Amino acid sequence: MDSLVNSPLESPGAAQVAACVALPAAEHARRSFAQQSESAAWERGHRLRNQRQRAARGTTQGSRDSRSSHEDRYSPRRWKYLRAMTNWSVNCANIWTGDPLRPWRRGMTIRDGRIVSLDEGSAPSSGHSAFTGSWILPGLIDAHAHLLMGGLTLQRLDLSAARSRDDFDRLIDAHCTTLTADQWLEAFGWNEHNWNGARPDHSWLRAAGARPAVAWRCDQHAALVNESAMGALDLRTDVAGGTIVREVHGAPTGLLLEQAAWQLLAPRIPQPSLTSRARACSEACNHLLSVGVTTVGAMEYLDQIEQVLVPARDAGRLTVRVAATVLDRVRPLPFARARAIRGDDFLRIIGFKSFADGTLGSSTAAMFDRYCDSDSRGSLMEHALEGTLTEWMREVLEANYSPSVHAIGDRALNEVLQAAVACDLMKRVRFEHAQTVHPDSIARFRNRLVSMQPFHKAGDAPLARTRLGTHRDNRCFQFRSFLTAGARLAFGSDWPIASADPLEGMRVAITGLALDGKVYGASANLTAHEAITAYTQGAAECLDDSSGAGTLAIGSPADFIVVDRNPLACDWMDEAPQVLTTVVGGIVRYDATDTAGNHDTTAATA
Ligand SMILES: [Zn+2]
Repeated sequence: MDSLVNSPLESPGAAQVAACVALPAAEHARRSFAQQSESAAWERGHRLRNQRQRAARGTTQGSRDSRSSHEDRYSPRRWKYLRAMTNWSVNCANIWTGDPLRPWRRGMTIRDGRIVSLDEGSAPSSGHSAFTGSWILPGLIDAHAHLLMGGLTLQRLDLSAARSRDDFDRLIDAHCTTLTADQWLEAFGWNEHNWNGARPDHSWLRAAGARPAVAWRCDQHAALVNESAMGALDLRTDVAGGTIVREVHGAPTGLLLEQAAWQLLAPRIPQPSLTSRARACSEACNHLLSVGVTTVGAMEYLDQIEQVLVPARDAGRLTVRVAATVLDRVRPLPFARARAIRGDDFLRIIGFKSFADGTLGSSTAAMFDRYCDSDSRGSLMEHALEGTLTEWMREVLEANYSPSVHAIGDRALNEVLQAAVACDLMKRVRFEHAQTVHPDSIARFRNRLVSMQPFHKAGDAPLARTRLGTHRDNRCFQFRSFLTAGARLAFGSDWPIASADPLEGMRVAITGLALDGKVYGASANLTAHEAITAYTQGAAECLDDSSGAGTLAIGSPADFIVVDRNPLACDWMDEAPQVLTTVVGGIVRYDATDTAGNHDTTAATA
């Protein structure tokens, strides 16, 4: 049929650009980013997006053209029709396939959730949809997120907008009115670098009153508790790998770092009910769909997989495909339980995880040289600290799972590399984060899976410069060097530690723009093509996904997104494309025009 091959540089006229109506869930993610951002450049990009949204709602003058064309193409009525189909066609679209030999197509036909033909979109079987003036990409794959934690944080108080102690008070005060008298206050997202860098203490949670209150730092590597919560904890002695921050006279300040937070506090926080965890799972899926994610590499504890993800999958409520990595790391590892979970297109267990160090934000990432602003070099953790990393890795590989290791400091990354070299078997090791790398090590990453989260650069690059000094700039967020060395780059978000929005992540990888509005390490910047590839084919490979996800080819799952502008040609400094529609397995799972948020539908077979 239509055999036109579009050039990536073909750019739409303004009238062709489909604008978009309100996106409640997507807006949530962007809001937290916008609130963190003091950057004029970021704000300009957001303003442009907001204008596009207002235009779509018809609230500004001169928007009628874009609104009517938008309604034509994205009318909820039309989607309602297509939702009832599993066999349908797409035509008149600019479809970027990810296939280097044939990157652009004009149409495709979908049958039973898979692509059965390309360039034949104008011969619909049961229904068809024209996408003139919009762009279709393979569904985005997030190689590293925390699905259930992300869903639960959507139900908790978000402190990422707090710029002062007053903000803290005000947000907590308002949130308490939504809680019952005996309910814990749970918050997350604070960052002392949003004010003068002073570490908060228990008195910052005074507005919670007599109820126990806990507020996790944005990186989840530190937690603040109030006096009431402290009363429930044994804070007499430190735990290995953790710190109970104390006043000069030895009394705990309420701030618990790393293992002190995870071991002493986390088990004491009342677990959310199964009902609210199931709701968190659905909300997390909806949130990811709204930002264009169709497959997620989820870091989860095994009992959560068993209790929440498996029932959700069995009930057809898992609307995003999940490749889970098990967070349980006490040996013996629960391989038999993991194997007992049946894998299918929507839920698979692919590996086990360990943590080799902490974070740059908490100065706990293990570095070769000292931090510039303290005497510390950070510290190895868990198996890496005990000297059992190679043994653990071999065990995981021999059980036919992929070992995934958190390593942020250059020294931690080297430890993981050495362990990987010592036991290189069939399945490969996933290097998670890899935020700093020693220049002497980079060549050794050839053909290895490096799983990075570009949006962390937006938050951590300014801090890294203070903590590590400009002389170590060439070690931080080395996207380009990893690719040059022949590493396989997979992108993800680390949501809810950072925004789940892959398009915002791409923007950082392409521009180097950080939240303070400055560009950091521009020599590490990627092209849009490379960034999209890392969020599609790279992430699919990292998640051991051989279904064809990450490309649009005959036989691939019909997982794709529709965006409002050409991601390969737009100016990412000023704008990022916006997701209009997300399709998983041929089913429309997210539609930006569906203001009722009713996109969690199950299609009938046509
Ligand atoms: Zn993570």
